[in-house]
Amino acid sequence: MSFDNLGLSSPLLRALADLGYTSPTEIQQLAIPHVLQGRDVLAGAQTGTGKTAAFALPLLQRLAAGTPATSKRPRALVLTPTRELAAQVHESVRDYGKHLRIRSATVFGGVGMVPQVEALRRGVDVLVATPGRLIDHLGQGTVDLSQIEVLILDEADRMLDMGFLPAIKRILTKLPHKRQTLLFSATFAEQIRELAKQFLHNPAEIQVAPRNSTVEMIEHVVYPVDTAKKRDLLLHVLSLDSRRQTLVFSRTKHGADRLVKLLEAAGMKAAAIHGNKSQGARTKALSDFKNGRITALVATDIAARGIDIDQLPTVINFDLPMVAEDYVHRIGRTGRNGSTGHAISLVCHEEAGQLREIQKLIGREITQEVIVGFEPNQPLKMCGPMPRPSGSPRPQQRRAGGGGRGPANGRSNGASAGAGNNRSGAAQPRRSQNSDRRV
Ligand code: AMP
Repeated sequence: MSFDNLGLSSPLLRALADLGYTSPTEIQQLAIPHVLQGRDVLAGAQTGTGKTAAFALPLLQRLAAGTPATSKRPRALVLTPTRELAAQVHESVRDYGKHLRIRSATVFGGVGMVPQVEALRRGVDVLVATPGRLIDHLGQGTVDLSQIEVLILDEADRMLDMGFLPAIKRILTKLPHKRQTLLFSATFAEQIRELAKQFLHNPAEIQVAPRNSTVEMIEHVVYPVDTAKKRDLLLHVLSLDSRRQTLVFSRTKHGADRLVKLLEAAGMKAAAIHGNKSQGARTKALSDFKNGRITALVATDIAARGIDIDQLPTVINFDLPMVAEDYVHRIGRTGRNGSTGHAISLVCHEEAGQLREIQKLIGREITQEVIVGFEPNQPLKMCGPMPRPSGSPRPQQRRAGGGGRGPANGRSNGASAGAGNNRSGAAQPRRSQNSDRRV
């Protein structure tokens, strides 16, 4: 299928051609016709599926056909959980609408109010906002939502996780009843269904698989390690290819800062991105990472939402997330656009429960590999050995000294999974013959 079949106008088709998009993704194929018809939509799609264009393209088409916004009265509102996602969505709206006369702006915290107030006063058609800062503007009378024609709740599940439900409900009371509402969410917990029931009218329901499913496109591996040795193992893994762009996840903000100090002390170029950083620092870290000035970006889960980096080969989970879904969000940053990504998790025995939940969610066991020199004293007691496909190479273990080469994919080397798996091979590490990756 091509974009021509979706009923999009020629200025939008030209913008898509400029961007090099040749065919619509699944969510775009499914959602765009409904949105163009003016229907409400409840869509299950996560970052990486092309969901932004799925709502932004038909939205721009609708707005371009109407009357431009007047002062302080935007015509469309996109609510996002984080500043990064707001900035990302705004960039996409601008890219897709570059041949149209549509004005857009963002409002989010961490930056001054004045430029936002000015932009709103001049008039914007599409306002992309985080809930907290939008409430501030509402309180100060610098925005009036009475002319909103379309509301988009982007990553609604994450907004609820972050406690934005009261803010969203408050914002919704300021919107006209007659409007189009689109709700995008990676998951459909009960609360999301409730929200949809309350605020969507007879929505078209759409569900798509992640574009690069965690199972197919990404090589997952767990390195069992004791907590005390995790930092050294991280340094070891990163030092094996210090030019490789790597996104490292830390569960806490302080943990992220500590890791950056560790990496910098080891001579690596790193920066952290988390909620305690100023917006300026977050934007700079992200752009430094995107253009290669730093090779390791250490992020917390929430800050990482909206990070869109094509061709990011490696994600390392320094610790596992408390919520299994976050694992999927984390690794969704790699293996995009058809490339193969690597998701490495450093897991201590205290995290066995979290690993079990993650495996349940993604529907597969993740290969465990013990790195020589980092054998845990307390093994990960959680699952039996991974089944080895017939004809696959014998179990491997990796050398700590940098000479070890990994398997071509995570499935071929499963035998070190399981409790106490460093017993047999640690003394005589083998090299895998079929590797394309060093660890
Ligand atoms: P999203 O899920 O909206 O965050 O989009 C993920 C990535 O896919 C972004 O880098 C988009 O620019 C890109 N993208 C979206 N739609 C398409 C498409 N039809 N063809 C190629 N890339 C796309």
